[in-house]
Amino acid sequence: MKKVSLFWVVLLVSMTAFSQSFSKAERDLILSGPETEMLRVTQVTDSADLKILKAVSTDINPKDKLIPVLAKRMYLAMRDPARPGVGIAAPQVGINKNIIWVQRFDKPNEPFEYYVNPKIVWRSNLIRKGAEGCLSIPDERGDVYRNYTIQISYFDANGDFKQEVIEGFTAVIFQHEIDHLEGILFTDRMIEQQAFQSAPIGEGVNLSLEKTVKR
Ligand SMILES: [Zn+2]
Repeated sequence: MKKVSLFWVVLLVSMTAFSQSFSKAERDLILSGPETEMLRVTQVTDSADLKILKAVSTDINPKDKLIPVLAKRMYLAMRDPARPGVGIAAPQVGINKNIIWVQRFDKPNEPFEYYVNPKIVWRSNLIRKGAEGCLSIPDERGDVYRNYTIQISYFDANGDFKQEVIEGFTAVIFQHEIDHLEGILFTDRMIEQQAFQSAPIGEGVNLSLEKTVKR
């Protein structure tokens, strides 16, 4: 009996893995131009774009051959000289799949890296308040409370599963981008956090301890 149930679990898991592929519309968009051409960045001011930005994205098979193509076109969109950013999430180029780029300010030479199916598996009670903006929200910046330290899991560009502890501003970028995958914008966090209560840990420091917000 035990063996039979394990068989079904394995079958279900592998079927789920195979179903994690791009839709026809997503494939067409990814292949709509050369790898050297940026994808258009979705904007909250456009109703069709907003629908994509507000949708919950899904995992993708980390070995999917189209991921490197999408990643290149996402990178170019993020680094558009007209408005360069430090991170981007796939819904921001019209793809509701769990892929993000983050600039690693915590690594030597501050490289840009992309992550597939990133998840936050642990958050600190220590909270950091800092200004954020977004490539999809024109002309708006505002303060958002974020966990100072997070632990994440993801698949890297080689398709290998990894876990990492991230701190400070780089952790802020991860939280901003992973929020995008849940259809949450930093402006949503600002509204949600209006009643946020925290205990400041010192004068003139942007760090505090979480009191009311649990997520
Ligand atoms: Zn954003």
